[in-house]
Amino acid sequence: MTNLSKFYQKTWQQRLQALIDQKIISDQQRKILQCSASDPELGDQQIENYLTHYNLPEGLALHYLINGKRYLIPMVTEEPSVIAASSHGAAIIEKSGGFTTKVSGHLLWGQIVFEKVSQPEKLKKNLEEQQEKLILIANQAHPSLQKRGGGARHLRVRILAADLVSLDLAIDTQEAMGANMVNSMLEAVANYLGTQISAPVLLSVLSNLADESLAQASCRIPVEFLTRPQLAGQQVAEKIAVASRLAQLDPYRAATHNKGIMNGVDAVAIAMGNDWRAIESAAHAFAVKSGSYRGLSQWQLNSDNSILEGKITLPLPVAVVGGSIKIVPLVQLNQQLAKINSATQLAEIIASVGLAQNLAALQALVSEGIQQGHMRLQLRATILAAGAQPNEVATILKQMQQMKKTDLTTAQSLLAKKHESEH
Ligand code: NDP
Repeated sequence: MTNLSKFYQKTWQQRLQALIDQKIISDQQRKILQCSASDPELGDQQIENYLTHYNLPEGLALHYLINGKRYLIPMVTEEPSVIAASSHGAAIIEKSGGFTTKVSGHLLWGQIVFEKVSQPEKLKKNLEEQQEKLILIANQAHPSLQKRGGGARHLRVRILAADLVSLDLAIDTQEAMGANMVNSMLEAVANYLGTQISAPVLLSVLSNLADESLAQASCRIPVEFLTRPQLAGQQVAEKIAVASRLAQLDPYRAATHNKGIMNGVDAVAIAMGNDWRAIESAAHAFAVKSGSYRGLSQWQLNSDNSILEGKITLPLPVAVVGGSIKIVPLVQLNQQLAKINSATQLAEIIASVGLAQNLAALQALVSEGIQQGHMRLQLRATILAAGAQPNEVATILKQMQQMKKTDLTTAQSLLAKKHESEH
């Protein structure tokens, strides 16, 4: 039986030793954990029971021209094709004049939900009448936000069931994502309401359906820029428009359409130290807001079929301060690389990345298919998985390309032959 009692009270070194003592890891494995621990002191402050840093590759997506300005976009991802696809999609859009973006706001909803309500309409009226007072209480709970120009803006009351009522406060969180700020403001309001409303508060917490933090990116691509070796640009554009319609009609397709978008969105969110789970949940909740799950982007041909018009709308409760953003040096560097200094700018970039990623995926899907490009890039990972050292990859890669093979077994046997010939 393992005994890791008071694990959280141990120092980092003691924790690793405890794992060895309990025969959970070997000395060799301790070395792996130690080597990956790029900043144990920081990690120990950031999370409970810190062991190591889990490293993911970071690269730069190029060719981003957004509102007339060029951006280098750091992306963190383990999926081989993501950055290549992003840069490819962005390059087509760059040639076409770039992305145009619009950010509608940066408000987060916070919910205070009452249970055991006996007269929901009466409670709704009561809460609506107190709007001014409730906003004041919320803002007094985090005055620095109001000083920066943010704070609670308005409220709404929704009757969810005969016994459940949600009071929603819309809060402008300025440059932060705002989860913690909103939660403290909500608790203050909930405490106040607890003294005057008989229905008990069930819970009070932000909503991740950030539909008052919408960012839109659009582009207009002359169809000839979409040409593929076996398909004219006009045909590619027409097929992309049908694929886009398909993603509005079929949730099975929409889920994959949106996964491709989130490949890029998450990669930038992680590089920028943002809470990508919050962004994911916002995106999917928004995608199903109409009642059925739909693609987050749309593509259509213009009236004379010469231009493919693309548009994406994403809820992006993103931040350039707060959470772990200011304490992780790499995030600071990434903000510098992308030259961003506001949450609005970050939302503009992320929406553009989502659209470029989607374009690249759709263009490949409706022409040669995604497997060709994917497997070309995946091959390196397969060779490494076969046990190759990084400096052996190029040789094996060349041999596999000549043989037109992409499978692990071939990689393993080529590697074994290489090692035999070296001995
Ligand atoms: P913080 O709790 O870090 O609050 C934001 C901080 O940024 C505050 O200290 C604020 O200072 C400071 N700040 C400096 N400049 C600005 C500015 N211009 N605008 C706004 N704030 C500024 O982060 P958040 O409240 O944003 O919460 C985000 C964190 O909460 C993330 O780590 C997220 O993972 C986590 N979280 C997410 C949940 C969810 O999504 N459901 C739930 C709970 C937590 P000051 O204090 O002086 O105002």
